[in-house]
This record gives sequence, C-alpha cells and structure tokens, in this order.
Amino acid sequence: MAVLAIIAPTVVLSLFGLHLVRQQQESAEGLLAKRLQTVAQLKANSIVREVVRLEEEQFNGLSYDDPSKLREELADREKQWGPVKQAFVLDSAERFVYPLMERPANAPPREALPPDVKIIAEVQAKEGDRKAFVEKDLPGALDSYMQYRDQLVEWYEKEENSGRNQGDEPEEREYRGALEVAQAIHRVAALLFKMGQYERCVKEHQVLVETRALREASLHYHVAALYQTTQALHKLNKAPAVAGLLNLYEMLLNETRPRAGEGSMIEFYRNLVVGNLEVVHANGMEDPARARYMKLQEQDAERLGRLKFLGKVKNWWHLRKSLTGDTAVDVIEHVPPEAGIPPTAYKLYREGNDHFLLGFKLDLEYILQDITIPQLEAEFRDTAEASVFNDKGIRLFGVQPDIQSDVVLSFDKPLDFWRIEVAETNPRAAREHKRNLTIVYTSLNLLIVGVIVAGVYLTIRDMNRELQLTRMKSDFVSNVSHELKTPLALIRMFSETLLLDRVKEGRKTDYYDVINRESERLTALISNVLDFSKIDAGRRTYDMKLVCVEDMIRHSLAAYRYELAKEDLEIKVDIEPGLPDILMDGDAISQALLNLLNNAVKYSGDKKEIKVSAIRWNNMLHIAVSDSGIGIDREDQKKIFEMFYRADDEGVRATRGTGLGLAIAKHTAEAHGGTVTVESVRGRGSTFTIVLPVRQQTDDTEA
Ligand code: ADP
Repeated sequence: MAVLAIIAPTVVLSLFGLHLVRQQQESAEGLLAKRLQTVAQLKANSIVREVVRLEEEQFNGLSYDDPSKLREELADREKQWGPVKQAFVLDSAERFVYPLMERPANAPPREALPPDVKIIAEVQAKEGDRKAFVEKDLPGALDSYMQYRDQLVEWYEKEENSGRNQGDEPEEREYRGALEVAQAIHRVAALLFKMGQYERCVKEHQVLVETRALREASLHYHVAALYQTTQALHKLNKAPAVAGLLNLYEMLLNETRPRAGEGSMIEFYRNLVVGNLEVVHANGMEDPARARYMKLQEQDAERLGRLKFLGKVKNWWHLRKSLTGDTAVDVIEHVPPEAGIPPTAYKLYREGNDHFLLGFKLDLEYILQDITIPQLEAEFRDTAEASVFNDKGIRLFGVQPDIQSDVVLSFDKPLDFWRIEVAETNPRAAREHKRNLTIVYTSLNLLIVGVIVAGVYLTIRDMNRELQLTRMKSDFVSNVSHELKTPLALIRMFSETLLLDRVKEGRKTDYYDVINRESERLTALISNVLDFSKIDAGRRTYDMKLVCVEDMIRHSLAAYRYELAKEDLEIKVDIEPGLPDILMDGDAISQALLNLLNNAVKYSGDKKEIKVSAIRWNNMLHIAVSDSGIGIDREDQKKIFEMFYRADDEGVRATRGTGLGLAIAKHTAEAHGGTVTVESVRGRGSTFTIVLPVRQQTDDTEA
C-alpha cells in the first residue's frame, strides 16, 4: 500500500515531465517557425507598403480640375512610372477623358467645293466609273479619271495659294476640297494598279502620301495609298515593299486616336499588312526587317492589351455604377485581377457637377522585379528561401519548394492575390537544433525521473530494513528466552536430582559438570545480552590492561572445555611463541573469542575440525578461529556482523542463536582499534580473525 502511494505519484510526475519535454520541444520548434513567420510577414508588409507609397505618389499632385493639363501630366508620368502604368480617366458618361480615344471629326465642309468645279468633277468621275465598271474600257476610264483629278488639283492649288486653307493647328484647319482631291488621285492610282501599270500607280500615290494637307484630310486614302504602293512595288519585285509594309504597320500602330469611323479602317489595313508580312516572314524575312517586324508585333500586342484593358475598365465602371452607385471620393481602391481585368488601383474624384474615375493598371512585372525580388533576396539568403505565387498558383519567383514550406502567407491589399512561401534552406541545421534541444530536455527529464526513482528505491529499502529489524528483534526475544530456558531447565533438573541424593557417587561429578557448563553458558549468554544493551545505549566501556595473549587464549579455551568435552572434539591450538603482552580488555576480547569458538562449534555440523591460532604480523595480533563447517554465502558475509542478523540457511536455522555474537566481537575489536574479518566458502568452512593492534601502553592522547 505504502509502495503504491509512492509509485503512483512517481509515475504521474514522470509522465508530467515527459509532457513538459514534449511541450518544450514543440515550443522550440514553434519558436523557429514563428520567427520565420514574423520575418516573412514583416517583409510582405514592407513590400506592400512600398507599392502603396508609389501608388499614392501617382495619385498625388495631379491637376484634377484641368482635363487638358491632367492629360499632359498623365502622359508624362506614363513614361516613367514604376508599379503603376496605363492610366485612365473616365467621366460619369463613361467617356474617356484620358487617353483620348478619338479625334474630333474634322471633315471639310462639303459646300466648300464651288458648284462649277464640283459638277464638272462629278461628271468626269461618273464617266470614268461607267467606263471602268460597266464597259470595261480601262484606258477610257483612266482618261476620264485623270481629267477629273487634274481639274480638282488645279482648283486646289489655286485655293492653297490664296491662303484659304491655312490655319494654325491641323485640327482647326479646313482642308476645303482636300478630301475630293485625295479621292480623285486614289481613283487614278487604283485604276493604274488594275491595269498593271505599277510604276505609274506608285507615282500617283506618292503625291497623295507626300502632300500633308491630303494626308490630314483623309487618313483613309492615305493608308490605302500606302498599302497599294507596297502591293505595286511587290509586283515590280522591288525591295522596298517589305520596308513599306513595316512603315505602314508602324504608322497604323501609332495611330491611337483615329477620327470617328476610322477605327475599323485601321483594323482592316492592319490585318492586311500583317497578313502580307506573315507571308514574307514565313518565306524567310531577313534582318534588320525581321527584327523590326518582331518589335512591331510586340508593340501591337501591347496596343491590343491596352485597348482590351481600357474596354474592360469601361465595362467595369459601367457595371459598378449601375450596381452600387458612387463610392466615397478621393479614396484609393483596388480591383484584384478578376474577369480578365489586370489588378487596378482607382480613385473617384469630383469636379464641378460631374465625377470622374482616375485609375492605373498595376505593373505586376515592375512590382515583382523591382520591389519584391530585391527585398526578398536581401532578407532570405542563407537560412531560408522565399517564393512568390500568383492567384493561379503559378510561381513567379523563387525555387519550387521540394518540401512543404514552413511559412505560407498572403500579401495584404493591393497584392492580396499573391502569396509568399518561405522554406528553411538549411533543414539539417534546423534538425540538429531540434535534436540538441531534444537531448537536453530528455536528459533533464531522465535525471528528474532518476532522482525520483532513486528516492523511491531508498525509501523502500529503508522500510524493508526497518521491517527486517523489527522481525529480527522479535526473533531475538524468542531466541533469548529459549536460550535462557534450556540451561536453566538443565541446571534445575540436575541440581534437584543431586538434592534428592539419588545419584551414585561415581556419577555425581558428571552432574556437577553439567550444572557448571550450563551456568557458564548462561553467563556467556547474559553477558552478550548485557553487552548488547550497553553498546546499544552507547555505554559500553573497556578496561584496558596489559594482558598476556597466550594466557588469555588458553583461559578462554579452558572455559570452553566442558563444551568441547561434551561434543568430544579437540581443538588444534597454534600460538606463536613469545607473543608480547598487549594492552586490552582481556575479558572482552576473551568473550569475543568465545563467541567465535561457539559459532565454529555450532555451525560445523558433523565435521568438527576446529583450529585456533595466534600470530603477530605487521605489528598486528591475529587471533583466528577456523572450522570446516557449513560456511557462509558471500552475500551473507557482509551482513553477519550486524546485530541480530542470522543467515537464512538450513544449518543456521537448526541451531539456536541470538545474532549478537559477531556484532559484539566486532564492536569490541573496533573499540581496540582493530577489526574482525571473515573468509569463508559455503560448504567448506570459515575462518574468523580478530585483528588487534599490538599496543603496550596507552596512547599519548589517552594518557
Ligand atoms: P548467532 O547467535 O546466530 O550465532 P552470531 O552473531 O554469532 O549469531 O553469528 C551471526 C551469524 O553468522 C550466524 O547466525 C551464522 O549464520 C553466521 N556464522 C557465524 N559464524 C559462523 C561459522 N563459523 N560458520 C558458519 N556460519 C557462521
């Protein structure tokens, strides 16, 4: 029950210790992960802050109240922007304020052509058309067209010289009749192409292309002329055909603000030009034309992306307005990449009664290359590796982590569609760290458990000892009573017999002998018990005198003679001659010797060969008692000198004893500055030796 009371808390404590260890380990691992998490979070925040800062910079300091100035500023910024590009400003009617998508229509007034010129020209044009399309009389048609053209050009040049067509800005200028002139030249050139007169066709178009007024009056005829020139040159197998196509392509790409109705024409010719160039490219286009073509293709793709973006923004603005109405002005908001719209930052502002939407497309490439990567590389270099993934899980930067990342977290707005993952690159170091922690904590726990177990063991051992001692004491009492009873009974019986005078004269001596022997045995027993009680109380004193060793031994043996006689055994005695007188308590040592002799007799069974010897060696007196009896277990040899201890042996149990003899002998020898030793082999016999220092006078200290 007591053992259980100790073991149960021990087990609980150990389990608690183990739990602590695991917790410590987990918290150590957790600490590492948390550190990485914190660093990653800080980095992500710093990247986002930088983007937001640059973004705000773009929204700040613009001339919101002046559209034309705002347009200039935005166009300027677009050239140098970092994280944001492609600005747009929409008014509430969903018209683009920036970029301007269309040029205002600037068609020359039709009535500007004087009726006489107009009528004659129309007649000739119709005549030409009839011959060309109905009569298939191409030379006739050409004749009519050329007259028609000459007429217009003649009139036009006159007009030009008179200065009527001159204004400051091309857009404000009225190109009176220029559209008709361009149309006339185009008809002539087109017919020449149809007739296979390519060189003349090219020449005719050249006028159309090179005259600025004509070009500005009609983009349509200008482009058509350029295109047909390339076709004519191609027929003539002249090299500039490809260059012309590329020039035209470039021009069309840069024509970002067509007039109303010109947009589809531009797309039409762009497709034609691209078709032509593709054929040339497939047949092997050579540098530098090829390089230029590639570049233009890129520009084209960008232009298309731009148009698409603006189209989507417009749709989105429309939807937003009809769904949620206006939001607070002057607050920067974000649209994540969704439904084909790249991530966009916008801000609503009010000007007069109208409100406008100003926005930018976020340049993810810039944000990645110029802000994110440098910051991440600076932070995670030696111990960890960072990767950035977009909303589709595509890795934008970093190595694909081959193990599970230690940290996965999203950026804040406006980059909330990106996530960052960080993995330890040196998992071995981390593992080692963890292992070291484990070792430390496990050893600590083992130590704690060890101490507890040792404590429990010692307690249990003490308890056992206590129990054993109690048992030995009770055995002792019963043994002593028994030991007392036997000699007393014998003494009484023999003395009573003697008193009754029933003993024959010849045998009386035997009776007296028995009485004498038993009373000696009683004396020895009682003196042992008395000694024990004195030793136990710490009051045993020794009366030291110079004693002749040989005499002391022989007296002791003499006192034991009855016993020996009864057992019919003889003791070999071997005393070194000339031993000196030694300072000792003769009675005490004699009693110790008798105790040894008594044991030798008791524990010898039938093989009673007992020897007593005394020698002086190394300035010590050795008095040894040997027997060939039952011997003593090695284990027991250590314990037999304890009070009350009796070996758990059949031979021992068969004899009576108190367990005091050896303890008293040892105590006596030690009080003399000596000791008692034992050498024994079980079943073979034992030798007990009293070892005493050879001293002939009391120590100086005692004197
Ligand atoms: P006891 O009264 O039991 O003899 P002792 O103190 O004299 O008490 O002896 C202690 C124990 O030592 C004995 O019980 C016995 O087991 C063992 N012992 C002592 N002397 C001998 C011996 N000569 N041979 C074998 N065992 C012995």
